[in-house]
Amino acid sequence: VIERDGLSALQGKSPAGPETSSPIVRYRKVSISFGDHQVLNEIDLDITPGEKVAVIGPSGSGKTTLARILMTLEEPTSGVIEVEGEPLWHKEVKGRLVRADEKHLHRVRSKIGMVFQHFNLFPHMTILRNVTEAPIHVLKVPKKEARQKAMEMLDKVGLADKADQYPAQLSGGQKQRVAIARALVMQPKVMLFDEPTSALDPELVGEVLKVIKDIALEGEMAMLLITHEMDFARDIADRVVFTDGGSIVEQGPPRQLFENPQSDRLQAFLSRFR
Ligand code: ADP
Repeated sequence: VIERDGLSALQGKSPAGPETSSPIVRYRKVSISFGDHQVLNEIDLDITPGEKVAVIGPSGSGKTTLARILMTLEEPTSGVIEVEGEPLWHKEVKGRLVRADEKHLHRVRSKIGMVFQHFNLFPHMTILRNVTEAPIHVLKVPKKEARQKAMEMLDKVGLADKADQYPAQLSGGQKQRVAIARALVMQPKVMLFDEPTSALDPELVGEVLKVIKDIALEGEMAMLLITHEMDFARDIADRVVFTDGGSIVEQGPPRQLFENPQSDRLQAFLSRFR
């Protein structure tokens, strides 16, 4: 099902203002079911360029699925997702929306980077090769340039000195920092972080959060951060979105959400962290 709302953005520039003010990511009535289990229910969500959005909510509320859909790892049952005004799964041909081919999907998806809970590094490759693999094989960047960019990113996450080591030689926190460098090297417009610290020993959480915060402070990249670290969400997010039961129940600036939650469900959820 293609929603009319989703189509309007396809028509080109936003009439309301310059292109820069239009959302970089737009979910319109996005639903997904697995069998008869509806996991997301008509989600509307806009992310503006550079905006940092934290997603909080109980386990099973659909947060990961929300990110996986944007990463094209799951396909919505209905609704539209657009990235810079282009729908993910469909494209316009002669004024009509048709199902997109792999090439279109690939191009739109390349604007999104994702960091998973379990780092998903290639165990048989050095740290450097983990980071250069996609630029060389997907973006066709010349090897020398890819290595140079990868080293810059490893430097940014504080791991340039580990370039020749293998993932098994690194701590969990270091592995996650490599995963962040690997996503950054693709220069995405939006970075998705799915509970990036929840698989880590507590003493390793801080170093990963610091790297994410540094990236957030650089500013230009939008972020969708799924997290149970409430202090961190409050610290870096421009907006916090609370999901429960597959819907966005409440959203707003961190201070508003954390200090003055309106819904019973958010109040109950936050009380678990106090
Ligand atoms: P959260 O990230 O908030 O914990 P998820 O998005 O991971 O929530 O999952 C929401 C619900 O969707 C869970 O009940 C989960 O079991 C179900 N789910 C997620 N992905 C799939 C899938 N591929 N097939 C079947 N059920 C799924």
